[in-house]
Amino acid sequence: MSADRIRENLEKIEERMAAAAGRAGRRAEEVTLIAVSKTQSAEAIGEAYRAGARHFGENRVQEREAKSAALEGLGATWHLIGHLQSNKAARAAKLFAAVDSVDDPALAERLARAMEAAGPGKLRVLIEVHIAGEATKSGVSIEELPRLAERILSLGHLNLCGLMCIPPFLENPNEVRPYFRKLRELRDGLRSATGAQLPVLSMGMSHDFEVAIEEGATEVRVGTALFGARAKPQ
Ligand SMILES: *Cc1c(COP(=O)(O)O)cnc(C)c1O
Repeated sequence: MSADRIRENLEKIEERMAAAAGRAGRRAEEVTLIAVSKTQSAEAIGEAYRAGARHFGENRVQEREAKSAALEGLGATWHLIGHLQSNKAARAAKLFAAVDSVDDPALAERLARAMEAAGPGKLRVLIEVHIAGEATKSGVSIEELPRLAERILSLGHLNLCGLMCIPPFLENPNEVRPYFRKLRELRDGLRSATGAQLPVLSMGMSHDFEVAIEEGATEVRVGTALFGARAKPQ
């Protein structure tokens, strides 16, 4: 996809994000775009950066490593948004400023240890919640969520900032609304129970990010609406 096309797409997405925020009585600055660059070339990522995108999401450690050299020097913030196996925790902690898909205490512990070994500094993490029965296999169950949150909050070197979810794909994005609302309610409950601020709700993708913003998303993860259709399905 051409640089002009990526720039146009980014402008359109930002306008739609601002309009959705406005409908909910929120300011546009309250919502951050995570440009989901999985399967995209370093060139396309560079174009999105030059057009103004600053946060990027990848779902595989190996893919981010492979693009590493070509992306060096780009002042972007990288989010890991895909399922992470504990044995790749140390590599992920090196490459990403944020792991937005933590779903298990063993993984959190591995990440904390990797950060400790790397020196001062905390890794931002979000807990991925399995919000709908069949939608995806990843994410902690709603029942296990409080325990995982308590565990992460007890670990040094990790900064638990909020929750993330991937709801089912439904043709009508309005039908996804209850899942987004549910994630916000879970966050509010955890906030009361733990006293942690948990300001971040990462929810909404190309198809439904406006509804997510109306329901309180502070980060939306948008791939195809920005870069076009991915070559291989993920
Ligand atoms: C691929 C992906 C996205 C982006 O999906 P689009 O529909 O292309 O916007 C968002 N979040 C996660 C976790 C993803 O894996």
